Amino acid sequence: MAEPDPGHVQHRVGRSGGQRPDLDPQVTCAWHGLILPEVGRSGWDAGAVLTPVVWSPETRRHLPRHEVWVGVPTPGTEVPERVDVILDALAGHPLQEAAPHDDTVLERIHDGALLGFLRTAADKWAAAPYEELVGQDRVVPYFFPTAALLAGMEPSPPAALHARAGQFCYDTMTLLGPGTWQAARAAVDVALTAVDLLAAGAPSAYALCRPPGHHVTPLGYGGSCYLNNAAVAAEALRDAGHERVAVVDVDAHHGNGTQAVFWERPDVLYGSLHVDPAAGWFPHLFGHAGETGSGAGAGATRNLPLAEGTGDGPWVEAVADLADWVADAGCTALVVSLGVDAAGDDPESPLQVTAEGFREAGRELGGLGLPSVLVQEGGYHLATMGGLVAAFLAGHADP
Ligand SMILES: [Zn+2]
Repeated sequence: MAEPDPGHVQHRVGRSGGQRPDLDPQVTCAWHGLILPEVGRSGWDAGAVLTPVVWSPETRRHLPRHEVWVGVPTPGTEVPERVDVILDALAGHPLQEAAPHDDTVLERIHDGALLGFLRTAADKWAAAPYEELVGQDRVVPYFFPTAALLAGMEPSPPAALHARAGQFCYDTMTLLGPGTWQAARAAVDVALTAVDLLAAGAPSAYALCRPPGHHVTPLGYGGSCYLNNAAVAAEALRDAGHERVAVVDVDAHHGNGTQAVFWERPDVLYGSLHVDPAAGWFPHLFGHAGETGSGAGAGATRNLPLAEGTGDGPWVEAVADLADWVADAGCTALVVSLGVDAAGDDPESPLQVTAEGFREAGRELGGLGLPSVLVQEGGYHLATMGGLVAAFLAGHADP
């Protein structure tokens, strides 16, 4: 997905300092009641209002083992330990375990064929002799029904599971194994529970979703993503009565999946800043400035591609640009696709953003004053990524 970062800029990572004391009677709000059962365990200070954190232990169950890039297996970077380093960095925030939700919203975001495949593929793979024959215990596509192959003909459904995988998975980086579906589905519950907290009166909520989701289209998965958590959150906010919702994506990579989901819709804006795909970066085909939506959604998509090496100043300016765009459009709720892989020491991106940059980005988006669901996307440098999330949340809570 990405070349190694040539820069390796070292920087000190901020922690979640600077939280404002509770100066209003919010501690008696309904949403506090929702999170109280977990508060004792997390050591929450009743004198402070920190952004509530929604998570699920189930999200640890997906083990990527490896990714296949240009035919070579490389160690997976989207590892369960990401959940733990974020939880450690957010110690002191109110903690809420995700509640189960049905598939109603999920089925409006993704095609039933994709959901059916993801739900059953790992078990079918395990029941077939792939591991015995070639030592592969993960579902890996090798055959892709591209437009070039089809040549305008209507294909028959492939009988082999190893051929079916390429109908839905568009890269070789996103392996599916035992526990993948359970983790991805739990991440959707995390996002929906965060929306519930807003409905109960919380000004914002952080959804610790893993695996990430912004590369998943209505029918296709890839980019280490399986279900589009941010799109589900935006759709649920529409259901909660918000007539216009914005998704602002600060992950280092363009969220082609979220863009695809809302491409023709005027009621959910999608704005993204990311490393320029025209310079060779994932997701390669999408994320250019000329992509602005279509049909009824014309003008409701905005892309700000950035050059490799972009650091805090222009990166935060791009965030502020999208914040202005969201305010001008009259959106009443916000979803942030909060990838922190734009950091200088992240292995998946050539951007050079620091913890202070993430704090400033949080301030820009928190300054909108909108009910906000902050959804975790990428971020792969275990030593620093938790601090980057904490810095963003601190800025967002105290703009
Ligand atoms: Zn990313």
